[in-house]
Amino acid sequence: MTTIKLKKQTYKTIKYTLFISVLALILQACGSVPILGRKQLLLVPDQEVLTLSLQQYQDFLHGAPVVKNTPHARQVETVGRRIAAAVETFFRNNGYESELKNFSWEFNLVKSGDVNAFCMPGGKIVVYEGLLPITRDENGLAIVLGHEVAHAVAKHANERISQQMALQYGGQIAGGLLGNNAAAQQIGGMVFGIGSQLGVMLPYSRKHEYEADELGLIFMAMAGYDPRTAVDFWTRMAQAGGNSGPEIMSTHPNDQNRIAKIKEHMPEALKYYEGAGVQN
Ligand SMILES: [Zn+2]
Repeated sequence: MTTIKLKKQTYKTIKYTLFISVLALILQACGSVPILGRKQLLLVPDQEVLTLSLQQYQDFLHGAPVVKNTPHARQVETVGRRIAAAVETFFRNNGYESELKNFSWEFNLVKSGDVNAFCMPGGKIVVYEGLLPITRDENGLAIVLGHEVAHAVAKHANERISQQMALQYGGQIAGGLLGNNAAAQQIGGMVFGIGSQLGVMLPYSRKHEYEADELGLIFMAMAGYDPRTAVDFWTRMAQAGGNSGPEIMSTHPNDQNRIAKIKEHMPEALKYYEGAGVQN
């Protein structure tokens, strides 16, 4: 009896020590989402996430029918650049200047009937042509592109890799796995979906989707696009229906909740819209 008790005690102590080590590491590895301030677990250096994802992005583009020099392709590029520029100006003016090196924006349109768009870390954004009848105009595109830019700015991919690492490796992270590229690569491969040609990445969690919606509204407003158009846009998206896996609606079982949240965030977004100096 005594031996077993001792063993249990020792096991408990080891577990406790490991827990404390992981906790200490996690506290060190905390980042926070710009503007919203939510604390997040970021275990992988930004540069490593960018390297991991860039290859996947290039492979995707290599095999995808990229649309170039059409009015639609130019519109995607123009709206995307305007939002990226507004976000960068905001970063420069609000103490996030050191983050700018993590972004090298690209906005591509691909020929596909799918109602989809996605963003890889560093701001590599792809819009599918099937989305255009629903976005309809520059405001509609700004909602989608603001949402995708937000995933990049909020480092949702890094956070997801970090969460997977913490789940899979737990205590080993405290033992120095953090510097182990192989582990990050293995998980990066999972998160960025090596081998899958559409979708490219696993769907984000619902929390990340809501956050991208909220930040996206603010980013489009900063760029001078009217965030109030988002309510009609998401209503059109809901009518287009289908939870068939597009990035921007994949983890939202209830469109009404999404639209309600967007309405809730509207007063905040409108402050940025007014700040953008748009006459309305
Ligand atoms: Zn999303």
